[in-house]
Amino acid sequence: MQPMPEVPAQSFGPDGALMHDTPCRRCGYNLRGLRENGNCPECGTPVGRSVMGDLLRFADPAWLRQISTGLSMLLWLILLHILVSCLTGGVSAAARGASVVARGASSASGLSAAASVALAAVSLVAMWKVTSPDPSGLGEESQFNARSIVRFVTGASFAVTVAVLLMSLISANPVMFMVIALLGFANSLMVVIAEWYKYKLYEYLASRIPDRMMISRARTIRWIGVIFLLIGVIAGVLGMVVLRPPAGGMAPTMAGAGIALIIIGAVGGLGLLVYAVMGVFYLFRLRKGINEQLRMAEMIWSTAPLARAAGSPPSPL
Ligand SMILES: [Zn+2]
Repeated sequence: MQPMPEVPAQSFGPDGALMHDTPCRRCGYNLRGLRENGNCPECGTPVGRSVMGDLLRFADPAWLRQISTGLSMLLWLILLHILVSCLTGGVSAAARGASVVARGASSASGLSAAASVALAAVSLVAMWKVTSPDPSGLGEESQFNARSIVRFVTGASFAVTVAVLLMSLISANPVMFMVIALLGFANSLMVVIAEWYKYKLYEYLASRIPDRMMISRARTIRWIGVIFLLIGVIAGVLGMVVLRPPAGGMAPTMAGAGIALIIIGAVGGLGLLVYAVMGVFYLFRLRKGINEQLRMAEMIWSTAPLARAAGSPPSPL
């Protein structure tokens, strides 16, 4: 456990008032001009808790707890996904990125549809927790930050997944089939975008631990993810175009394309498995890092509002 850092002296002017724009860590109110032994006028949080920089250990513990719970849920979901992929065969995992495209082709049974929606709902809840905003407003300087992009795209992807499943259950006429295929394609692109920005968000969180190794690893993993997810999407689209049974049996060219598709699918599937396994290790370590920060934050928020200087009496809460 590192010792609690002291308040940077340059934060306060000669009159003892905060000199710079400083958001309250609990509510985001600008504390500039307030004294370090004062309280936030909006929520009563001691000013001293908000002047220690943007490291997670000084963040609101309730917020860190949300992220930690969300990461745990995501970990279990990925492990479940890997397990299911192994059980159903490696090649079928190839179409993961484009699974919804393929789903349009096969008529989904009511049970598997319900399971898919339940799984998507749990992922949505998990992602909602991981992407909950820092109540201080840190990291929200731009409206299009990684956190809100992941949130928006994940929500939209969930809506499309439910819509596609309902449509595939209701009817199977050719027009509906086309709509489902297009929605599925759009959804698989949304998955790629969400995965990319998810690791941008992880990189940002790692920078607030701070953990340099986790920052650079997030970059590596998001490139691996986006490359193999796109291969999966391409395999899914090719599958839709090439493997639709032609009227007079399968032509030789079709068979050749089918073999090529299986190879692309296998490469994509293997890549995605690597991506998923790397993701498990990454999330495991990120959760560990955030839990360490959470324990420090709990200590900081439950004891003295700040450690101004060694020897100074702790201010009452
Ligand atoms: Zn406040």
